[in-house]
Amino acid sequence: MRPGNLLLNWAAPFSNDLSSHCTMPQEAMKAPVVVLGAGLAAVSFASELRQAGYQGPLTVVGDEAEPPYDRPPLSKDFMGHGDAEKIRLDCKRAPEVEWLLGVAAQSFDPQAHTVTLSDGRTLPYGTLVLATGATPRTLPALQSAPMPVHTLRTLEDARRIQVGLRPQARLLIVGGGVIGLELAATARAAGVHVTLVETQPRLMGRAASSTLSDFVARYHAAQGVDLRFGRSVTGFTEGTVLLDDGARIAADMVVVGIGVVTNDALARAARLACDDGIFVDAFGRTTCPDVYAIGDVTRQRNPLSGRFERIETWSNAQNQGIAVARHLVDPAAPGYAELPWYWSDQGALRIQVAGLASGDEEIVRGEFSIESPKFTLIELQKGCIVGATCVNNARDFAPLRRLLAAGAQPDRAALANPATDLRKLAAAVGT
Ligand SMILES: Cc1cc2nc3c(=O)[nH]c(=O)nc-3n(C[C@H](O)[C@H](O)[C@H](O)COP(=O)(O)OP(=O)(O)OC[C@H]3O[C@@H](n4cnc5c(N)ncnc54)[C@H](O)[C@@H]3O)c2cc1C
Repeated sequence: MRPGNLLLNWAAPFSNDLSSHCTMPQEAMKAPVVVLGAGLAAVSFASELRQAGYQGPLTVVGDEAEPPYDRPPLSKDFMGHGDAEKIRLDCKRAPEVEWLLGVAAQSFDPQAHTVTLSDGRTLPYGTLVLATGATPRTLPALQSAPMPVHTLRTLEDARRIQVGLRPQARLLIVGGGVIGLELAATARAAGVHVTLVETQPRLMGRAASSTLSDFVARYHAAQGVDLRFGRSVTGFTEGTVLLDDGARIAADMVVVGIGVVTNDALARAARLACDDGIFVDAFGRTTCPDVYAIGDVTRQRNPLSGRFERIETWSNAQNQGIAVARHLVDPAAPGYAELPWYWSDQGALRIQVAGLASGDEEIVRGEFSIESPKFTLIELQKGCIVGATCVNNARDFAPLRRLLAAGAQPDRAALANPATDLRKLAAAVGT
């Protein structure tokens, strides 16, 4: 059966408001608990499960040999300090966990309730949690290029890229998403020449309003990044990468940041409903009894758009993991319903985005200049706040998230006036 058909059959009870999720029978958690993947979602889940009182056996299986670490610094500070110990995730809140690191799960059997590992072991599970994250897409056109070509997801990737960030080195970044742009800023700060190729006419794709995209492009251009829009990579020669307009970009190293595919192969093999991401409800339940999924590997209903989407953010990995653990220990605990948000640090820009990237109207608050940027964009849909972007304006972010969650319709003039204290506005509408 094609994934699309599975989706039609399965997602129907999940397509309305959150209360519809309760149409699935609630099952009690069964020991032992086995988590596949040892990233942020897994560590948050395991920590919360223990904090919430689960005392049974708990095993986390991770295919990276490294103890768990945080990924956001990899495109930012880590390139400067290179110290893996500074970016370790705190596992102390998850005591008495058996960490099986450097070993991959190869399959699981939903009937037998077992997981098979790459070292030949078989683990029994009562409750299985899939937290296997995602893998970067690669660029076939550069498969056998003579210069190093990397993606950036793991500590190992970051170490390899760091070696190439020498002053005057020539870096080509393929993809104008947040990871490519963060790396571009980090590399410029290290004195590296950066060219960035993006197939679309703007940066940050659907993750940003076009106003933010334009501003970010102006910022990076002012920092000396050579931006090539509407272009794609077609091949290479010795020392250069070829673009579809015939341009040859001299490059000592290439980093490809063109998105990810989810690591949902185990779930697909076990016939769980997937479509580049494992479908889950607000409790992390998959279509298979006793099997849950959390973090980047999931496809879940975005409370704002109403659509099943992948939400590849740090906050989602952490908070979905926490919510699912709480719910497993206490079935009366509420489901996960956080509105999506993320941040991105690009040189002097601290960008925070919540909700939808754009609506039918946009309000600009603050100083919209490249020299001293500090502004907020508020997206409205029929007068309701549906999205917010703060650039170096963190003070606005928390109240805007509250107004967003409340579906508030504040006065436009008050929103646009930088003198308006949004915290007071949020308090006034009772959020
Ligand atoms: C460079 C970078 C910068 C980022 N910056 C930001 C940011 O600024 N802001 C933000 O909001 N988000 C950011 N993110 C996104 C955020 O880090 C991710 O959303 C988050 O790490 C996802 O966590 P996860 O646990 O779901 O998946 P992952 O962190 O990918 O963990 C999954 C783990 O499972 C392992 N695994 C996969 N298959 C198997 C298997 N079969 N058996 C065992 N183990 C397996 C994987 O190797 C991996 O270690 C960034 C991501 C990257 C890569």
